[in-house]
Parts: sequence; C-alpha cells; structure tokens
Amino acid sequence: MASKTKRRSAYEVALAQFDEAAQYLHLPDDVKEFLRTPKRELIVHFPVIMDDGRIRMFTGYRVHHSTIKGPTKGGIRYHPEVNLDEVRALAMWMTWKCALMNLPYGGAKGGVAVDPYTLSEGELRRLTRRYTAEISILLGPEKDIPAPDVGTNPQIMGWIMDTYSIHKGYAVPAVVTGKPISVGGSQGRIDATGLGVMYTTRETLRRKGIHMHEVTVAVQGFGNVGSIAAMAMHREGAKIVAVSDVKGGIYNPAGIDPFDLWRHVEQSGTVADYPLADPITNRDLLTMDVDVLVPAALEGVIDEELAPHVQARFIAEGANGPLTTEADKILLDKGVTIIPDILCNAGGVVVSYFEWVQDLQSFFWTEDEIRRQLKRIMLSNFEAVWDTSLEKRIDLRTAAYTLAISRVAEALEARGVYP
Ligand code: GLU
Repeated sequence: MASKTKRRSAYEVALAQFDEAAQYLHLPDDVKEFLRTPKRELIVHFPVIMDDGRIRMFTGYRVHHSTIKGPTKGGIRYHPEVNLDEVRALAMWMTWKCALMNLPYGGAKGGVAVDPYTLSEGELRRLTRRYTAEISILLGPEKDIPAPDVGTNPQIMGWIMDTYSIHKGYAVPAVVTGKPISVGGSQGRIDATGLGVMYTTRETLRRKGIHMHEVTVAVQGFGNVGSIAAMAMHREGAKIVAVSDVKGGIYNPAGIDPFDLWRHVEQSGTVADYPLADPITNRDLLTMDVDVLVPAALEGVIDEELAPHVQARFIAEGANGPLTTEADKILLDKGVTIIPDILCNAGGVVVSYFEWVQDLQSFFWTEDEIRRQLKRIMLSNFEAVWDTSLEKRIDLRTAAYTLAISRVAEALEARGVYP
C-alpha cells in the first residue's frame, strides 16, 4: 500500500489515540506524561541452533507499558517485522484493553523478529525456549503473564510454561495463558477473541436497529481471530462475502461458509485457492461494499490513502490498531461506526484472565461458565463505552479510551508516586 506521506508508526498512532482521549479527562500534564510512558523495555539478541547445526541470531523484545493496576499481561508475536516501536504500541494498547475490561492487570507485549512458518518444529521450539529464558527476568504469575498473538499458538505457550517451570523446579501453569488444556489451559480460550468480536459487533448493530442476518461481512485475516469471528457471525446469520489472508483474498456475493473454508485452509494452508469463490486482492477486500468490515490481521492496514475508498458502514477491529489516526478521522467523518480494538478484540485477554485465575486456584471452570462470564464482561463494558460515547458525544474509540485511562489514572492516584 503506497502512501504519499510517511505512514505513522504504530506507537505514534497509540500516543495520538491517548492524547485525543486524554483531552476529555482534564488530567494534569505530568500525570498524562506518566501514563503515556512505557515502564520498562527489554531487547534480547539470542542464538538458536538451526537444524543444519549452525547458530542463527534472533532479536526479541518484551515491553511492560504499565504495572499500575497489576502484573502485566499481553501476547507474544512472531513476525518478521516485529520491532521495538510496534511492541511498545501493542503493550500500551494492552494497558487500556485490560483497564477497559476491569482486569487487574497492566499492559505488556513481546515479540521476536522471525517468520515462524519458515522454521521447523524443532527450530521453533528451541527459539521459544531460548527467548523465554532470555526474558524470564521479567516473567512470573505475579509479574508478567504472556499469551498468544500473531504467529504464536497454544503449543508455543506450552513450551513457554515448560521452560519457565524447568528453571523454577516445579510446574508454574499461571505464568502464561493460551496454553493447551492438559497443562492448565482454559476451556474457551481459543474461541474467545473471535467470539468477543461477534458479541460486540452484534450489539453495535442491534443498537442501530440492524440484525446480524441482514448484514454482509468481509474479513481480513483468517487466523485465530478472523476465522472464529467469521464462523460466529455466520452462525448468527450474517453473510460472509469476502475473506483474505497473507496469500490473497476470495469473494462470493452469495456467501462463503467459513466452516467449509476452514476445512480447505487446513488442507491447503491458504484461503486464496478456495474453489467456491473468486480471487480478489487485499485492497479489494478492504474497500468492498459490505456492511461490516473486520480487519483481523495487523496494525496500520487502513491508512489515509485507503480510508476514503472504504465502503463498509461498520468496522469491527479484530486486530490491534488496524486503522491509522488519519484513517480513523476520515472514516468517522464518513459516518462509519468503528468498534475499537480495545473493546472489540478484548475477549482473548478476558478468557486469559479466567485461565490465570483458574491456574492460581487449581480449580477449573466449565466451558459454559467461561462463555457466560465472557459474554457478561464484554457486554457490560460495551454498554459503558456506548453510554460514554452518547453522553460525551464522542466516538466509540475515544469513549473506550477515556474509560480505560480514567481507571488507570484513578489507580495511580490511589498508589501515589514513590518515594
Ligand atoms: N494477544 C492478545 C491481545 O492482543 C491476547 C493477550 C492476552 O491474552 O494476554 O489481546
């Protein structure tokens, strides 16, 4: 996507979003400065022995944006473009997401600059173990609890749990969430983010007098978030007309069955060659004439160049930070309703919280219980955001941010500044 002006970095976007919302809170400048500054940032360069016996060096990160409200929480990303600036932005977004969901956590994020799909399983396991050891000074059930993000999965979380536990000398399941069930993972964690995207979208539509079965949907990304969101919306009667992944997109105006598409992806590895739809580009998908657009891939995919061409009336941010600040303004001016990431995709971290609580108590809940509590938390916070938006006459993102920031600011005031 060629943009005439230099695109803002993810962290610049995160700071601009903070500044926009902070205006409504009348916080003193020094408090604002405290809240927008990351607490600690670790960069590690580490060796991994590859299958051919040679050493390859990798770079990884773990950033704690805030520890004001509790231990830090946030995923680990494996992607070739991971860098400090991106991890900082993602960590900051986790602070607001956890605060918005009223979870007793601060925000963190981690990542390794690597394309995990080019590694063998053994290489991926050794990379994960070494990265875990390198950042282990920051980790712990009371300190910092990672989880999956783009390019990582439950198996990788299992290796993180094992590596940390081996060094401790006993099993510590609560050090990481999104693990396999057999080592203290939670029922319902895999579906949680996508389900939350569906709940918040359905609720937004409902408040505009629209039913899910009346809408067409385009989904960018068919990973853990996009695929589950598509399936959940399809089950509610929505027509999924377009889906894309890194290899390309597909379109069928009569509707695509995401369950069938999933079976296809399990075989072929991509949506792009799905036979029951026509090929389209990622840009076609993002600018398609649909009711609901679900960007569920990476940050910054809709920028000021693309935004004027977006035709969707609703955007459900399955990804973190898919819109740049400029794109956000253009779309709001066009009357698009944007369900912001820290609300829309918060289902994952909510069930991560349930997983952590279950691990700490060694007492596990049923899937029904998880689903019920997830829905309750998502909808009550949705309502708080919606009401704030109406009351203050601000968009949903700014409303979500004002709620989240005010909760962290209140905690900061209660703790005070040491010494
Ligand atoms: N990576 C997910 C997110 O961005 C989940 C984080 C977590 O569960 O801690 O929200």
